[in-house]
Amino acid sequence: MNVLDYPVTYLSNVGPARAKQLADGMGVRTYGDLIQQFPSKHIDRSRFYYSYELTTEMPYVQMRGQILSFEEEGFGRKRRIVGHFSDGHGIVDLVWFNGLQYVEKTYKLLTDYVVFGKPTLFRDRFNITHPEIESADKFSISSVGLRPYYSVPEKLQKRGINSRMMEQWVRTVFRLIHEPLAETLPEYMLRELRLMSRDEAIRAMHYPQSAEHLSRATYRLKFEELFFIQLNILRYARERNRRFAGYVFPVVGDLFNDFYYHHLPFPLTEAQKRVIREIRQDTQMGRQMNRLLQGDVGSGKTLVALMSMLIALDNGFQTCIMAPTEILAEQHLDTFRQFLGDMPVRVELLTSTVKGKRRQAILQGLQTGEVQILVGTHAVIEDNVTFRRLGFVVIDEQHRFGVAQRAKLWNKGQTVPHVLVMTATPIPRTLAMTVYGDLDVSVIDELPPGRKPIQTIHHFENRRQELYKGLRQQISLGRQAYIVYPLIKESEKMDLQNLEEGYREFCKAFPDLNISMVHGKMKPADKDREMDRFVRGETQILMATTVIEVGVNVPNASVMAIMNAERFGLAQLHQLRGRVGRGADQSYCILVTSFKLSGDTQRRIQIMCDTNDGFEIAEADMRLRGPGDLEGTQQSGIPFDLHIANLARDGQVVQLARDVARRILDSDPDGQRPEHQTMWAALSDLNKRTVDWSSIS
Ligand code: ADP
Ligand code: MG
Repeated sequence: MNVLDYPVTYLSNVGPARAKQLADGMGVRTYGDLIQQFPSKHIDRSRFYYSYELTTEMPYVQMRGQILSFEEEGFGRKRRIVGHFSDGHGIVDLVWFNGLQYVEKTYKLLTDYVVFGKPTLFRDRFNITHPEIESADKFSISSVGLRPYYSVPEKLQKRGINSRMMEQWVRTVFRLIHEPLAETLPEYMLRELRLMSRDEAIRAMHYPQSAEHLSRATYRLKFEELFFIQLNILRYARERNRRFAGYVFPVVGDLFNDFYYHHLPFPLTEAQKRVIREIRQDTQMGRQMNRLLQGDVGSGKTLVALMSMLIALDNGFQTCIMAPTEILAEQHLDTFRQFLGDMPVRVELLTSTVKGKRRQAILQGLQTGEVQILVGTHAVIEDNVTFRRLGFVVIDEQHRFGVAQRAKLWNKGQTVPHVLVMTATPIPRTLAMTVYGDLDVSVIDELPPGRKPIQTIHHFENRRQELYKGLRQQISLGRQAYIVYPLIKESEKMDLQNLEEGYREFCKAFPDLNISMVHGKMKPADKDREMDRFVRGETQILMATTVIEVGVNVPNASVMAIMNAERFGLAQLHQLRGRVGRGADQSYCILVTSFKLSGDTQRRIQIMCDTNDGFEIAEADMRLRGPGDLEGTQQSGIPFDLHIANLARDGQVVQLARDVARRILDSDPDGQRPEHQTMWAALSDLNKRTVDWSSIS
């Protein structure tokens, strides 16, 4: 058996119990797993610290001095032995909770020792619990430079597993490995990219010769990690292209042209034109389109969707658009009908409220092909809806749709329809390349002309009167306002009270105005009615929870006030803010917060006040929260807790990895080239252990 496959129980101090802890807590089962647990940092053992320099933030420090005396303190489980250690400047207490006799026997008083451990503060004195101690004569500073420090999950620390123990185990394993660790990347790639061999890199991760050596090792492993992800995604995408032929839309016909020349109420933006061109090209190639359309709120994605759908109709196909909520579906229906005017296109709405005969008629129309554009929610479209010839599907606000849901759609026709996924939650480029790595990406990076950037202002909650004043002023100009309260879970009573309480306050402050209230606990019909009143301008203020987050379009609204803004994430704040600024006049977003704000929250609020650019906000969000928590990434199946690489920071490496992976697939489409064999083997090995790529669309 290969040393790397030895179970950890072969280590002298690892029994079955500890092996289970290692497996459950860190996923470590074998020697090979162990050496892939890289240190979280290295500690400079080339100097000694003095007691007056210590802080509680220090990870591990090294000190030199003598133990002046031992003392036993505490009773029962708290019984401990304390060695008062002096470095000639002050006293630090060395503390042991077990092996008391051993400690007293082993360490001599008034003898020079080198002590190593993490300082903590206890009763105004620095303590080092279970320090590592070496005799000072045997110790030579030059022999130990950067020393690995392994982060061990707290749960395992409680079971007595610590960095030092990891260090010993790893060292033991390396002593047993006599051959270089197997390479996973082709030789020529290492040469071209000047990458360290895998063997050197893994060793250097633990025992670097210098900071620079460590950084090159990290780079090599980061690259490898990202490269295999890209190789997977791109290979899978190509496979799909090969398998799924796409419908061909050869013509741009009467409907599109009629619309373009006679019904379009305003000129398209350059960005809209570009995206429509990209979609046209995609749908002419005979391969199935999977395109992600990113565009900030209000950038005019809906119109792009409609015009692309007209191309599908012109080629004899049906289309459908799926919205995340019924309100949005209805809004799409209205928008489409308005845009289309008297054009001979049959557009129908299918939601859970469409029932009985009406529903039957629509289902029938879909089967015969008379219904050309179906607007609905995903819930409705999933179940037993059969199209005669579905050629083009638009999915709006994609992050609410799981991958599985998208896949289901594909079974509807024999040939998979073209899919356009639209999202207003911009995804940082590096993330898009990974999460949606197999989708082509279009970006609308331009707002329709004449929009004024929204002004965002931060208020502490005591400035209520000012808020009222501002609102009154806007409303007197004929504008409308949203007031949003947080409701983290719909069942959270407290927050609901906030909204209801707020509603009472606002009713008192604005007795002369009409105010709507909407929240997720209302019956859909009531919700729609309230919403409707606002859309039609009968009410001037809409007070709501985040149910209004996505897509609602009331161009006359010019104020978005968000209460307890500290409780919202950046993406959500940006979405909410996007509800205003849709008309030509100046709009405002007021972020109301309490006084106590954490550092992260302050940064979030600051970013919102500084920029309206969704991409900038997404990047910042990713930096603050890490890629794994961003909308749209959870269901992707990609392990965002990447081992070494960090999608928030390693954008350039992602790009490089993608380029290299693409070149490999171009040059070796069937995976036959001998110099690639170890790479393919490594990839399939990796896949066995990690992700089910086939589930990724
Ligand atoms: P998105 O879905 O991207 O958030 P919408 O499609 O709802 O944005 O568009 C926002 C508003 O801008 C709508 O009222 C729409 O009619 C309008 N609009 C779209 N494209 C243009 C354009 N080229 N010029 C002017 N207004 C536009
Ligand atoms: Mg939209």
